[in-house]
Amino acid sequence: MQIAAKDVQVDYSAADGTLFRALGPVTMTVESGTFVALLGPSGCGKSTLIRALAGLEPVSGGELRIDGRGINGPSVKVGVMFQDANLMPWRTVSQNVALPLELRHADLEKRAVAVKRVLEPLGLAEFGDVYPGQLSGGMAQRVALGRVLVQEPEVLLLDEPFGALDALNREKISLDLLRIWAQRRQTVLMVTHDVNEAVLLSDRVFVMSQRPGHIIADIPVDLERPRS
Ligand code: ADP
Ligand code: ADP
Repeated sequence: MQIAAKDVQVDYSAADGTLFRALGPVTMTVESGTFVALLGPSGCGKSTLIRALAGLEPVSGGELRIDGRGINGPSVKVGVMFQDANLMPWRTVSQNVALPLELRHADLEKRAVAVKRVLEPLGLAEFGDVYPGQLSGGMAQRVALGRVLVQEPEVLLLDEPFGALDALNREKISLDLLRIWAQRRQTVLMVTHDVNEAVLLSDRVFVMSQRPGHIIADIPVDLERPRS
């Protein structure tokens, strides 16, 4: 599924009624099955773009399309992940990961199979019955990633998913994500501050200018990477 933005702008209205442009105009295409990293200065509108693509933020102008169709609200085909894991502390790891399936009323047996399939490649196989309070930050983000992947989304929107982790954990979870992605080849747009992470994971790097951000560079990454 392709992600496309054409002349997209997002404005917020300030208290005095004037408009504040948070983003754009942005024009970009993330081709189906590619992994794009989005870099840019703080406040340029990266999160705003992710939220708009996730159907969580209305756009003030231009057009967003996923798989050629317009966006009207959140979609199960689109998985979104933020810097905070936002796990439910009263649910175990397995129960947190199963949540989206529960909301879709998948039957119990299907849920169990799907959760198991997701926990394993994330190194969480032994942690299914653990509560979030006992997890490190890195493990919590793995659970949050599992909760996204269990829905088998075709598009992943990742807003600094590993931004709060230390360098070692960030690299480990990035490599796991890369392995998982290599098998499924979802279309991914990932905001990051970490150039190493961007180069490690992505096929292309988009760079945004200062607010209101637009794409000022589109750089192919041509690197031998682990593919299995
Ligand atoms: P980035 O993710 O690149 O750091 P954001 O998308 O979070 O940037 O924000 C872009 C700009 O829009 C910033 O100046 C930010 O303060 C502003 N902004 C973000 N969300 C809102 C909001 N809900 N209301 C008003 N301004 C906002
Ligand atoms: P990031 O830099 O990681 O994108 P921010 O710290 O800019 O995140 O924003 C965190 C949250 O605060 C977002 O949900 C954003 O919408 C909101 N926000 C940011 N700036 C403003 C603002 N000026 N007014 C209202 N909400 C804002």
